[in-house]
Amino acid sequence: MTNRKKTTQEVLPRFILVSLVLFLSSSPSLRAQRDPAEPPAGKLAPKLLPRPAGAISRGEVDEAGMRSLIEQLVACGTRNSLSSWTDPKRGVGCGRDRVVARLNEIAKNSGGRLQVVVDKFEGTGTRTNNKPADMENVYGVLPGSDARLAKTVFIISGHFDSRASDVMDPNLDAPGADDDASGAAVSMECARLLSRAGPNGQEIATRTPRWGNYRATLLFAAVSGEEQGLLGAERMLSWAKQQGYTVGGMLDNDIVGADSAPGAPHRVRLFSGAGDQDDADSPSRELARAIEEIDGRDAVRLIFSLDRLGRGGDHEPFYRAGLPAVRFTEPLEDYRHQHQTPRMENGVEYGDQIKYLNLDFSGNVARANAEALRQLALAPAVPANVKLGGGVTPDAKISWSVAEDPERAGFEILWRETSEPRWQVFQFVTSAGDTVLKGVSTDNHFFAVRSVGKNGARSIAVAASAPRTPPF
Ligand SMILES: [Zn+2]
Repeated sequence: MTNRKKTTQEVLPRFILVSLVLFLSSSPSLRAQRDPAEPPAGKLAPKLLPRPAGAISRGEVDEAGMRSLIEQLVACGTRNSLSSWTDPKRGVGCGRDRVVARLNEIAKNSGGRLQVVVDKFEGTGTRTNNKPADMENVYGVLPGSDARLAKTVFIISGHFDSRASDVMDPNLDAPGADDDASGAAVSMECARLLSRAGPNGQEIATRTPRWGNYRATLLFAAVSGEEQGLLGAERMLSWAKQQGYTVGGMLDNDIVGADSAPGAPHRVRLFSGAGDQDDADSPSRELARAIEEIDGRDAVRLIFSLDRLGRGGDHEPFYRAGLPAVRFTEPLEDYRHQHQTPRMENGVEYGDQIKYLNLDFSGNVARANAEALRQLALAPAVPANVKLGGGVTPDAKISWSVAEDPERAGFEILWRETSEPRWQVFQFVTSAGDTVLKGVSTDNHFFAVRSVGKNGARSIAVAASAPRTPPF
């Protein structure tokens, strides 16, 4: 090859490209320079511990096992919560049996750690004709290993009941493959991924956190009564309270079986509610941010809304109770294939059938949920009483309290521009109490605090709230 001078035509596009890159990379800081620097000395470089090693990989997800459970649930004909609980072949009781069988199989491979619970209750609402109806939930409980956190429970849930076009008719076929056998399958797959014992059946405590040793308790649920008015989720919440648990987080998976829009795979949507306190984020929103941070922006699409318009889900009773609860739902729903009695109409096929599912997508959802649960259950307790003070002074003051924990490395103080959706780590401090952020205005940012374990696992952030008592 001969050396030759590059022509202007060759150089010019590169010059434009380089200029563009330089401009784009410098412009945010140029913009920021128009605002006062906070703190005045400039950006801090907080100590950042790496997150826990051993993330669950996509290859570990048992898609075939998920499909098999969905097939078995669909084969029950209907799983309307008002159908038979005793017929082993058709009805919601058949669905319960399939879930229990799957959980028992998973429990067998957990070295005896996973406990299977069938929780019978009566649910009443307008969709039970305001009469008590028999209902049952199924729970797999993996007790936390650390006495400090064993009464904190992280819940994943899907509903195994289904419905046809008429929610009150228990006799119509209601395959419910997507809504919500898919969510039940994701929940059970998380149970398998997070509870399985190692190849040699070693004691969990002696192994890496990857395989167990979760500090907090994990609950893998498949509930009934969702279509009759979220009755199973309401029951699960009161059951958890009765057992003395504090709900650390609740991950509802409902309609996570299909990704039919062109260009698949797409990200699963993650819904979170805003809460009812002005200028402070809800625990639901903080859980959603934590999950996005764990799984990455390529895995989940944050939707800052409690649920889809005109729809509800099992995270709601938890959200209304002020708990961190979110909903996972597929990227773009096809309403012909949910809540529909199977039929042909004007050449259009209706019904929630397996053939519309995409298990490759559901496998991604299972992995994202499992990894989020893994890291949350490895994390120290959330800070309590997180308060923002220092109004009408040049400095922000953040204070919080928390119980002693030798496994905790410290805390991250988070902040963000009031118009930004996501947190940035602002500072790392080792002990709770008052932290003064010198030269940082209370008015220009939102603040939060989260705990960081020596293992790198972060708790959900807790927004720093300040009482607003007008007028001043
Ligand atoms: Zn549903």
